Amino acid sequence: MKILVGVKRVIDYNVRVQINREGTGVVKEGVKMSVNPFDEIAIEEALRIRERGDASEVVAVGIGPSAAQQQLRTALAMGADRALLVETEDELQPLAAARILQKIIERELPELVILGKQAIDDDCNQTGQMLAALWGRPQATFASDLKIADGVATVTREVDSGLETIEVDLPAVVTADLRLNEPRFVKMPDIMKAKRKPLDTLPLTELGVEMPAALEAGVCEPPPKRAGGVKVESVEALIAALKEKGVLA
Ligand code: AMP
Repeated sequence: MKILVGVKRVIDYNVRVQINREGTGVVKEGVKMSVNPFDEIAIEEALRIRERGDASEVVAVGIGPSAAQQQLRTALAMGADRALLVETEDELQPLAAARILQKIIERELPELVILGKQAIDDDCNQTGQMLAALWGRPQATFASDLKIADGVATVTREVDSGLETIEVDLPAVVTADLRLNEPRFVKMPDIMKAKRKPLDTLPLTELGVEMPAALEAGVCEPPPKRAGGVKVESVEALIAALKEKGVLA
């Protein structure tokens, strides 16, 4: 069984993002970029499935600029067998990413695709769902547990009311939630080994994907500065203050 994993290059979660001077987006130049944290969880899960003997190959797929090879090398260092970068300088939104991943699925024929539940740059949480619809295969999103047996994935999902366990026939799309696992640390020898693993690049133009009309961002601005709080001496004073603000009737 082959597993395809989505690996998106995003601004590192520790970076305090700044709005650019033009107010059209965030500053990306000179900023630390990393693997989307939910994709690290997706890679880890794919590796564990392979290590249990339920899969034979883990392929990491990224869509992005040439520099996104760095994040694919991280996936290889974690243990992915090979990587593929669909190269484009364009900013892609989920429907475009899903269409591109669908093309890669047609080439690679995986039995399982694991994506992150969301990318922390756009927080869209859409690509997995769109991909499953385009592929015409089942989806199990927000996975916190995943077992594979006899062509079926048993997935525990984090839903508003708690946990839900469903079975989906493979091939299918699973999206990884935070509690699915704790990704392994990458060790120096693994980083060296990853340099020799195959990483193919493919220009987006070669895939013949019809790109959907992109949403255009209007104005980006930082949230207003938080006004200072007020200390009250008693519960009565708190209630009076809340009533004054119209929060309590
Ligand atoms: P989103 O719908 O944008 O929140 O992204 C959800 C997931 O889709 C991510 O965690 C990735 O696994 C996958 N994905 C989205 N965009 C890309 C991309 N450019 N390259 C690789 N994977 C992607």
